[in-house]
Amino acid sequence: MAEFTELEGQDGVRMTWNVVPGTKQEASICLVPVSAIYTPIKPFPSMPVLPYAPLRCRNCSSILNPFCVMDFAAKIWMCPFCFQRNHFPSHYASISDENLPAELFPQYTTIEYKSPGEASLHSVLLFVVDISIIEEEMTFLKSALSQAIGLLPDNSLVGLITFGMLVHVHELGFCAVPKTYVFSGSKDVSRTQLLEQMGFFLNKSKPITGVIAGVRDGLSSESIARFLRPASDCEFALNSVLEELQKDPWPIPADQRSSRCTGTAVSVAANLLGACFPGSGARIMAFIGGPSTEGPGAIVSKNLSEPIRSHKDLDKDSAPHYHKAIKFYEALAKQLVHQGHVLDLFACAVDQVGVAELKVAVERTGGFVVLAESFGHSVFKDSLRRVFQTGDKGLGLSSNGIFEINCSKDVKVQGILGPCASLEKKGPLCSDIIIGQGNTSAWKMCGLDQATSLCLIFDIVKKDIPDATVQSSSSQFYFQFLTYYQHSTGEMRLRVTTLSRRWVAGPGSIQDLIAGFDQDAAAAVMARLLSFKMETEAEFDPIRWLDKALIHICSRFGDYQKDAPSSFSMSPRFSIFPQFMFHLRRSQFVQVFNNSPDETAYFRMILNRENVANSVVMIQPSLISYSFQSAPEPALLDVSAVAADRILLLDSYFTVVIFHGSTIAQWRKAGYHNQPEHQDFSLLLQTPREDADAIIKDRFPVPRLVDCDQYGSQARFLLAKLNPSATYNSDGPRPGGDIIFTDDVSFEVFLDHLQRLAVQ
Ligand SMILES: [Zn+2]
Repeated sequence: MAEFTELEGQDGVRMTWNVVPGTKQEASICLVPVSAIYTPIKPFPSMPVLPYAPLRCRNCSSILNPFCVMDFAAKIWMCPFCFQRNHFPSHYASISDENLPAELFPQYTTIEYKSPGEASLHSVLLFVVDISIIEEEMTFLKSALSQAIGLLPDNSLVGLITFGMLVHVHELGFCAVPKTYVFSGSKDVSRTQLLEQMGFFLNKSKPITGVIAGVRDGLSSESIARFLRPASDCEFALNSVLEELQKDPWPIPADQRSSRCTGTAVSVAANLLGACFPGSGARIMAFIGGPSTEGPGAIVSKNLSEPIRSHKDLDKDSAPHYHKAIKFYEALAKQLVHQGHVLDLFACAVDQVGVAELKVAVERTGGFVVLAESFGHSVFKDSLRRVFQTGDKGLGLSSNGIFEINCSKDVKVQGILGPCASLEKKGPLCSDIIIGQGNTSAWKMCGLDQATSLCLIFDIVKKDIPDATVQSSSSQFYFQFLTYYQHSTGEMRLRVTTLSRRWVAGPGSIQDLIAGFDQDAAAAVMARLLSFKMETEAEFDPIRWLDKALIHICSRFGDYQKDAPSSFSMSPRFSIFPQFMFHLRRSQFVQVFNNSPDETAYFRMILNRENVANSVVMIQPSLISYSFQSAPEPALLDVSAVAADRILLLDSYFTVVIFHGSTIAQWRKAGYHNQPEHQDFSLLLQTPREDADAIIKDRFPVPRLVDCDQYGSQARFLLAKLNPSATYNSDGPRPGGDIIFTDDVSFEVFLDHLQRLAVQ
């Protein structure tokens, strides 16, 4: 698998099939779609950034790249996508075999171009803060926000909106009395109403028609500056507003939830940014501490006797507010994408707040989502700090992205699963089959960062080749990914990645397909595809779908004699794939009934933006064992790994668990680690803790750390993820003394069934 990670290290791409099934028929029987997980702005320290504009094919406008065929004598390059011959312009006159421009170096299949001049440095941040929360949460939130404000770059513009029953837009100008504009929470406010009420037209006549958009269209920069000010000169004003901030004063009857108009508040924020900074990068950061109960986008009524929708309610279509709220946030997503603005969501409450409904607006705009129990929890506090961190540990926040793609003519695009929105650029590249954001060859990425990873699903449309033997050995498909974006330095950049993959067809191609199969990438793609289908197809049965796909894969790519299960084996390229699918079946992405709709939405949003390695950890957590007997070593994700004299470190991506075996826990409670003669024990306790810290430090959102002991109540965080090889149904010996209470089959039983069905 090392060669696939090497390719990822050069281009930020992992493909399911690195030797591509070359015909429609061939691709359909491979079951795992031909797809790529691409990290558009993954940092590559040695990647050149060229200070000039790229050369484009005059026919298909793909960009000059190392796969182009050169005719140096005639100064001509041939486009590998459409075979057009293009003349080099005069400034490439000195080009030759020995004198290549960087974009033609074979190792620079990924390269960037920067546009001279147009660096716009300010970033715009609009905080939207829930004040319908209890005093204690208010204190946590204020302190986190004021810390964040201290970390803002001086040139960023900041604004503040607070909301509860009403929406308050705060003026941050230099006036003696802090001024706010108040809007009713129960109905949506149009942009014109908003501007009028906030006095944008006081000294000017209101434009008669047309879009009201930014300084150049009639808004004075002074009126914009009342609400969005440079961080350097409003830190004091902002902090004093925060200090004065009170929780919503409205009395709440004992049988009622508090009034919270999340939808209206976010909509007011979107309209304000749409009026002041259309088309330039800006983020709305929403801090939400409870369920939305007021106005458009409400997820539940104020009446406490009405429970917040569960997966069961959604399944039975008996959640009265759900569809209305989704429709509201879909419209908001559209507006934000049109304006080029991002919605980030920090949802911190014991209750659900409506992440499932807000998801569409966050995901289409490439926003973050952080879910925690409280504004005082480290998952929230540390994640918020990470957002504003710069340098090596920073997220590399970028904005205003547009992603485009070119492919060889036999490859089409079904769509993208990931944080982006279709720009509805239809053309010959679009497949008839649509998955996710499809029927387009260009996508908007309002917000993106160094880790943002898109999943592209391709469609191979080549018909069967009449005589498979004529296939030449040099059959290649080409892919070109173009990402225009505003770099965190303010510069406009264009990242170009050009790939080539060999395709095969017909009998005898199977060994080539096997050699090019990336099972980690395949697991990540299947997980995204499955989550998407669960959300969009009413009668979809995920377990059946996965099992069917897996059985077909095993019978096609396995090695066996017909009807002899014991003869079954698989190439190392496929050998852990069944295990990935086993854990995917048991994962939070499939077993949604163990979680709330908000949690499910959260898990899926993170899956949809992460790279292959991180997705694999979400599907199949990693487990490390620490003991006196050996150095730390990876352990099988199985209940047999539990032992009284061991510490286990489980990384399930969203949660990191340190689990002490019962003997270890006893020694620790007795304080042995504090005694000088038991230094080894102290070290044994310390090592997993340090390893956990290292995982947590590198991850965004920051995962939850669970520190627990065998037989303790929190031990379930580990046990739920282990293969139930010993359950209350099994008679065998119970290693470590722990059994798992589940009716799920163990991996051994699963594999046994799989092999029997595959060889039929
Ligand atoms: Zn071309």
